[in-house]
Amino acid sequence: MGHDHPTTGPTPQLRCGPLLEGDAELIDAATDVVDRSSDGAVHTVAAAVRDGSGRLHVGMNVYHFTGGPCAELVVLGSARAAGGDHLEVIAAVGAGNRGVLSPCGRCRQVLADLHPRLRVIVPTADGVGSVPIRDLLPFGYEQTYERRPR
Ligand SMILES: [Zn+2]
Repeated sequence: MGHDHPTTGPTPQLRCGPLLEGDAELIDAATDVVDRSSDGAVHTVAAAVRDGSGRLHVGMNVYHFTGGPCAELVVLGSARAAGGDHLEVIAAVGAGNRGVLSPCGRCRQVLADLHPRLRVIVPTADGVGSVPIRDLLPFGYEQTYERRPR
């Protein structure tokens, strides 16, 4: 008896691209914020994003047991509040010299849904690189309800 198993090939490997021009500046901006502003408890990760006009926006996480937002989500709101749109690339950096952090599952879903062309800076075994958000969430959940205007 055979199974109808759709995946028979090898596990696909994540292809991580190199950093592009301006990415180091983005990482530096997030690093500056987290080094300057982390309190080691509530605010421990900073994120920076570059919008379509080339402007950088920064934000920090707000840890709380009820589900406080990650830095990646806070910076989406910060960018919008400053008039930023068409976000191009995002990076998050952890306090305590943790360096660049990969977005959590919730953030991957939010970023993919709201900014599907976003590039994400991620740590790899070979250093820091970048990938399209869609590559970080293969077979992602698709919203079936009507999207609200934004
Ligand atoms: Zn997250």
